Amino acid sequence: MNLLSQLYGIHSPTGNEWDMICFVKEYLKEHVPEAEVKLDGQGNLYITKGTPEGGYPTLACHLDQVQVQHSKDFEVVQEGDTVYGWSAFRQSREGLGADDKNGIWICLQCLDHCPRLKVFMAVGEEKGCIGSNRAEMGFFSDSLYVLEPDCKGGEEAHTMLRGIPCASEEFVEALALPEHGYSLTEGKTSDILALTLNDIGVSCINLPAGYHKPHTDDEYTVIGEMEHCLDFVRDTLHRLNRRFPHRYLSETQKRIQLTSKQCRIMDVTNKKCVIRCARAGVFFGIVTHKESTVAGVECTIKDCRRIWSWDGAATLSQMAVDGVSKPEECKFTVVVPEMTVMDVIEIIPATDKAIKSLESVPVWKV
Ligand SMILES: [Zn+2]
Repeated sequence: MNLLSQLYGIHSPTGNEWDMICFVKEYLKEHVPEAEVKLDGQGNLYITKGTPEGGYPTLACHLDQVQVQHSKDFEVVQEGDTVYGWSAFRQSREGLGADDKNGIWICLQCLDHCPRLKVFMAVGEEKGCIGSNRAEMGFFSDSLYVLEPDCKGGEEAHTMLRGIPCASEEFVEALALPEHGYSLTEGKTSDILALTLNDIGVSCINLPAGYHKPHTDDEYTVIGEMEHCLDFVRDTLHRLNRRFPHRYLSETQKRIQLTSKQCRIMDVTNKKCVIRCARAGVFFGIVTHKESTVAGVECTIKDCRRIWSWDGAATLSQMAVDGVSKPEECKFTVVVPEMTVMDVIEIIPATDKAIKSLESVPVWKV
């Protein structure tokens, strides 16, 4: 309770997290001196304890809170299993910032006890995940998975946030949530969503940290729920020592990946090719550059002729292999020194025989 009361006593609204950053740094200096602590330009904290041994289980939490009211005589009141903030002067309840100081508390407890751990503490979560959006993602390169105690209540955990999956099914299964009294529901914006969209590459989950009515002055913590979360986190850190990969790709990213793959199939750079586009028609020339874009594959072609029509070859395939047997019947345009075509769907390198034949086709012009 002592550490928790200290955390509740620090007022850290978004943009003014400095007191909390200093407290965490001092706490670690005293209690976990072996931990390496890095601070980035945003104010995010990156904490590493122990040697990787194949990777670090990783925790995350956020350093900021929503409530603006925090009186000089703010005190933490416990009634049974419930804790809330109080100002005697104002005779009114004041928010604890338990969202997400309960998460900070769990992270610090784990840093005390676990021999090998990474912890990411973000600034600005409450105003659109400012810190985790710009996190130094290299920190997570040897993370096995990420647990973030930052959901309200004591039952609902989130791996799906705003329709975006942040964890693999394998990870969800390995967590054995129902056995610990947890269920999965869909969540809203949070650090793990930002980290997933930043391509963290491993599974992430938000866990219920025992706070209720977050963002309000009526906020309170159910100690039993918070301690249950700590037990679950500790148990998981101990039990799961392998990497749980997970990547989320948007439809656009999937398409780019697919077209990059198509491009890698054959290197035709600096080769004389017959190129067919979905809409622009057919071209003959030297491919100097090929690139996948959201709109499809585009090619830059040197010494390029448009094949308006042809005769003496059954298909473009035959044209690229044998050339044309009736060059006089073909309509090939003038040579354009360099041009780019979009939406390329076919690139066929021409044989020496075909090149000789196609280059013999007279220029068709008016
Ligand atoms: Zn939160």
